[in-house]
Amino acid sequence: MSSKTLTGGCLCGAIRYEFDYPTDKPPTSTHCHCNFCRKTTGSYFETFVPTTLDALRWMTESRPKEYQKSALGKRGFCPECGSPLTWVSSDNPKRSMCVTVGSLDDADAVKGNMHIFYERVANAAKGVEPSLPKYTSGE
Ligand SMILES: [Zn+2]
Ligand SMILES: [Zn+2]
Repeated sequence: MSSKTLTGGCLCGAIRYEFDYPTDKPPTSTHCHCNFCRKTTGSYFETFVPTTLDALRWMTESRPKEYQKSALGKRGFCPECGSPLTWVSSDNPKRSMCVTVGSLDDADAVKGNMHIFYERVANAAKGVEPSLPKYTSGE
């Protein structure tokens, strides 16, 4: 099985990571329009790229500081520059996690997959990949 590597990190460079993915299963992205994602990014929505805790390698000494707003999971951000970096699910038998698409060095390496919490989408975000499937919070 051949694989490729995605790299990323925060704005100040204190935290860097990378992870591999199989070339036949390229990484995808999920646009989340929930209020928490809006607050944490300071923008209309947040976009996550799923990976796993086992696949992710930290390349720096520093690690994200974690903040838990909901029981669903924890958000990780750089304690130096504040960049949102990760989301780790609380109920996690598959050790799944996400990185933020904005923290990737090449955001174009991932392909859009879906919108979630779409019932809360901001008007300005309605033009973003409108052909992707749209789900509400309850689905
Ligand atoms: Zn930083
Ligand atoms: Zn969200």
